[in-house]
Amino acid sequence: MNSPHILDLEFEELKKKLPSAFRAQQIADWIFTKGAETFDEMTNLPQDLRSSLKRDFALRKTTLAKTELSKRDGTLKLILQTQEGQQYPCVFLPHGHYQSLCISTQVGCAWECSFCASGLVKFERNLTPGEILEQILYAEKTTGKKIRNILFMGMGEPLANYAGTVGTIRWLTSLHGMGFQPSRIVLSTTGLAPQILKLSKENLRVNLALSLHAPDDILRKKIMPKSSKFPIKDVLAACKTYWQENGGEFTIEYILLKDINDQPAHAEALANLLTSARFPALPKINLIPQNPVGGIALGPSTESRAKNFFDLLKKRHFIVHTRKPQGQDLEAACGQLQ
Ligand code: SAH
Repeated sequence: MNSPHILDLEFEELKKKLPSAFRAQQIADWIFTKGAETFDEMTNLPQDLRSSLKRDFALRKTTLAKTELSKRDGTLKLILQTQEGQQYPCVFLPHGHYQSLCISTQVGCAWECSFCASGLVKFERNLTPGEILEQILYAEKTTGKKIRNILFMGMGEPLANYAGTVGTIRWLTSLHGMGFQPSRIVLSTTGLAPQILKLSKENLRVNLALSLHAPDDILRKKIMPKSSKFPIKDVLAACKTYWQENGGEFTIEYILLKDINDQPAHAEALANLLTSARFPALPKINLIPQNPVGGIALGPSTESRAKNFFDLLKKRHFIVHTRKPQGQDLEAACGQLQ
């Protein structure tokens, strides 16, 4: 029960523990291409190797506790359960001819953003790369569909679980593993400036999204009390370094909360802030309609305010999108995961 998940090791580490790189690749193929869930299924490995793998590693550390399908939009919420009985969600999002999976990196979340349900769940622990990757393995198996985009936007703060997140991305993007293009992966963070800087040196090249939600530190502190320990200017400077060194897309996420951060003056201040940061290009801005969360008094902006906010940013030459809520009936939409 306590042996490590085989995917908690990176491919290079796994190779060193095996008789040859060829064997490591065979194992990775069994896991990622053929969907093996036990070492016994790996019939082209010698019997003694299978026995030692069984003794030293685990291939599943979670069970699929529950699935819930939205009748409204086909969104599927999968709940995984750790060996200790802790549960964490991932959300399969069909978008016509392709699909995304929104994955969790922690059980609970310590950041307590005032608008997010995940912050209401007590932080329990970081998930390991194996436990994070199992979300993708279960989602593909359950739906029979290949996932095209991975969103680190489920429960938890990915950069507060730095090792787990980086280990996961290495398997995701490695040609020995899942072979995802880094441009198909989005890592969303509340803005842990030191970890963003560290990440910029890992050469992972995944897209970065920043949950900014306020144009100044005073307002940010009100709605994201813990994240505000990193001043916005430091966070944006770290994102700029990441973007310069890794390329890809950089997106600002901004949830529109009625009477809190949705007035024209906020839109102007946001545009000024992002323009003066002198990024390699203007970042995209994703405006997020607030999804309802029980026990949270904050409410979504009105349609006309949201449109006004959108238009003001457009006038300032930003590419602006409004995120379409998916899975609200399952409490599986952004910010509803708990
Ligand atoms: N901790 C990371 C990863 C979680 S992402 C982060 O905060 O970025 C969760 C996404 O859902 C973020 O874009 C967040 O801002 C958004 N979100 C949180 N609460 C929400 C709510 N009630 N309605 C809509 N989006 C919400």
